[in-house]
Amino acid sequence: MGLKEEILRRRTFAIISHPDAGKTTLTEKLLLFGGAIHVAGAVKSNKIRKTATSDFMEIERQRGISVATSVMGFEYGGIKVNILDTPGHEDFAEDTYRTLTAVDSVIIVIDGAKGVETQTRKLMNVCRMRKTPVMVFVNKLDRPCRDPFDLLDEIETELKIAVRPLSFPVSSGPAFKGVYNIYDGSFSAFTSNDRQTVSEAVKLSLDSPQLDEYIRPYTRKLRDDLSLVEGVYEPFERELYLAGELAPVFFGSAINNFGVKELLETFIEIAPSPRPSPTETRTVEPTEPKMTGFVFKIHANMDPNHRDRIAFLKICSGTFERNRNYFHVRSGKQMKFSSPNAFMAEKKSIVDFAYPGDIVGLHDTGNFKIGDTFTEGENLKFTGIPSFSPELFRYIENADPQKFKQLAKGIDQLMDEGVAQLFTSRLNGRKIIGTVGALQFEVIQYRLEHEYNALCRYEPIQIYKACWIESDNAEQLADFMKRKHTNMAVDKHGRNVYLADTSYALQLAQEKFPDIRFYFTSEF
Ligand code: GDP
Repeated sequence: MGLKEEILRRRTFAIISHPDAGKTTLTEKLLLFGGAIHVAGAVKSNKIRKTATSDFMEIERQRGISVATSVMGFEYGGIKVNILDTPGHEDFAEDTYRTLTAVDSVIIVIDGAKGVETQTRKLMNVCRMRKTPVMVFVNKLDRPCRDPFDLLDEIETELKIAVRPLSFPVSSGPAFKGVYNIYDGSFSAFTSNDRQTVSEAVKLSLDSPQLDEYIRPYTRKLRDDLSLVEGVYEPFERELYLAGELAPVFFGSAINNFGVKELLETFIEIAPSPRPSPTETRTVEPTEPKMTGFVFKIHANMDPNHRDRIAFLKICSGTFERNRNYFHVRSGKQMKFSSPNAFMAEKKSIVDFAYPGDIVGLHDTGNFKIGDTFTEGENLKFTGIPSFSPELFRYIENADPQKFKQLAKGIDQLMDEGVAQLFTSRLNGRKIIGTVGALQFEVIQYRLEHEYNALCRYEPIQIYKACWIESDNAEQLADFMKRKHTNMAVDKHGRNVYLADTSYALQLAQEKFPDIRFYFTSEF
């Protein structure tokens, strides 16, 4: 198979949801269809039920041992499907944002009783920013759900995207009868079957006399609903979906494996194969023969005896080959990988070739950073992998004077992994850690101790937001930095960061210094 065929048969995506909507369950059912696993329960939930560090650590330890759960690949109908896993806990939202930079499309799971929830909304903002095509799966129809038209309206307004149902449910809860597949004009009757295995749905067309037997007393209602659908919604246009402007919507029940096959088969047919990737200088087409890719995630092994890491490389163009020299753009060094990993189901294995859309795990002893680009020599840097403005801040201090070096190294490496962001105060040189979630502070402390043998201590600091500043007006910038010098810091790359105490102070600063640009993501 040529490069082009390999690209066309790849679908790399993430499933996102508010916790508990059914992301893990849906992932598992998709893997069952792909024959990648054979029993339910094989996919470990990476969800953190309690906000306790010990709980998180336990999960991380398990995941550290089986990093393969970060990417789950399988083949279905000749298509290579790569599902990228995202953390369920909102404190790790930044991890999810970064994973979204490596996917070509997204499936959003929504709880049919709860509708659109906060985390869904936030994640959708990132998708919208990147114009990622999204598909929606409304889950838990076996439970009493809200009216489908209400849900569709809510998705449209809350997620700010046009919707088009491609299937439609007949009632919900105990009276749930099934789902009519608008896309291929058939009906799948819901029989609460054995939840552990995949079974064939019964297909019935809308005018089949048997249909009435299945869905009585809802036959009339279904016909009315479907004509309303046709009246209200424009016909489905794939181009609009691919442009990230239209979300096809499916209904089902992941746990009962209902509606999942329809979702998967439509997904495979309409979801995009690997798309072009922007760099600072040009756009890279996946069909270019030379290999390019970027690191979007670094996974540390939590076992102190094996302190290696795995860097996840998304291939953007060309063919990646084992034992071949590649150019690590940031360091300017040539590197080759003798045991790159590919991810199939919940297993990882050594791979000889990988293609655009694939994720390759590279063994790393602490040299890589999120965003690092690999090429065959060209000086490229992929863009669109931003750091988000953190919202929680603490001073970090060394709690063991003997271990100064270990602490510095540990902090450095954890920041490269993207666990948090480090700022240095211009006023007193103190180090400040900024995170998006409170749990990260404990994670950092725990990991410094267990992986780097270093002790840290935190002290409170009152900061509302960190923003990166830039200006073409050197005089105004100098004036600003002088006036705000107690609130100025530099980030790891030496860029100027303004640490606003309050939202009022930030607003005032923006008004008084109109020539200064305040950024809330670090990529600009
Ligand atoms: P996640 O947090 O989004 O990964 O959600 P999970 O997949 O872990 O599901 C959360 C809970 O909802 C679990 O108890 C599941 O068993 C349950 N669940 C998932 N799908 C369905 C469904 O279709 N119907 C019902 N009734 N429960 C479901």
